Amino acid sequence: MKIQVGISACLLGDTVRFDGGHKRSAFCDDELTKYVEFVKFCPEVGIGLPVPRPTIRLEQHQTIRAIIPKTGEDVTDKLAAYADKIADKVGTFSGYVWCAKSPSCGMERVKLYDPETGHAQKAAEGIVVARLKQRFPALPMEEDGRLNDPLLRENFVLRVFVYARWQNLPKPLTKAQLIQFHSQLKLMLLAHNQPAYRELGQRLGEAKAIDEAFCVAYIEDVMAALSKPATRANHTNVLQHIQGYFKQQLSKQQKAELRQVIDDYHDGVMPLMAPLTLLRHYLREFPSDYLEQQWYLVPYPEQLKLRYGL
Ligand code: SF4
Repeated sequence: MKIQVGISACLLGDTVRFDGGHKRSAFCDDELTKYVEFVKFCPEVGIGLPVPRPTIRLEQHQTIRAIIPKTGEDVTDKLAAYADKIADKVGTFSGYVWCAKSPSCGMERVKLYDPETGHAQKAAEGIVVARLKQRFPALPMEEDGRLNDPLLRENFVLRVFVYARWQNLPKPLTKAQLIQFHSQLKLMLLAHNQPAYRELGQRLGEAKAIDEAFCVAYIEDVMAALSKPATRANHTNVLQHIQGYFKQQLSKQQKAELRQVIDDYHDGVMPLMAPLTLLRHYLREFPSDYLEQQWYLVPYPEQLKLRYGL
């Protein structure tokens, strides 16, 4: 069964926007859809608003409210109730792609109006996304516009597939199963956030018992650590670490060639795929149980080609 990912319906081409249009995301609708099952929601249509419809805007009152300026209607509570209605389903997803700038779906920098002056600053989150973020802090989320950036796109997809692996673990988890999960994440975490890898490992080692609260805190911290894209310098460290596993098997010339490819990646001359392809070639030739279980080497379906641009 494919991984399920929630999405704002207009990003799949549904003509549900206030102006009767859509905001189809080619990456989601043409590429990612081959590897995940999108489940779409349009909160504004979901609360009974028509298409087309008058615009909604966020206003700063005592709390942030979603107002239809044309009628003065406050739809905040309806949108919040809609978020609660879909929450159980969203809790089973491995990620969510939101439509940017929307007062319902925008993840950040949504315009927030001062009702007195009519001035706006880009400062808020959409009502629905804010509520679901609060409820599912570990769930990978991203906006459509940011997915045009190769680094952010790769990072989102990577997080979705890590989270799906977490969701697939048996529950309740034993300490041994959690240690196994953590060890498979090792190189990926090292590429994203070395202090977090060490801190999480220490926490895991010191834990006497693994209960649900421990697991929830663990995965929230893992997903937070992965949410920052890995730097070229950190990838280089990880590649060198992998290189070390072949030091007995490779000839002098092979070692020099591998070192050069890693240096070229470090200097921005080659993409990440170049050293990874060579390392994976050596891994096929000289198998290593430890390396083969590392999700860093194949974090998501290769056919997405997300590391070609890194
Ligand atoms: S941004 Fe959200 S509420 Fe607006 S049209 Fe798209 S799915 Fe519907």
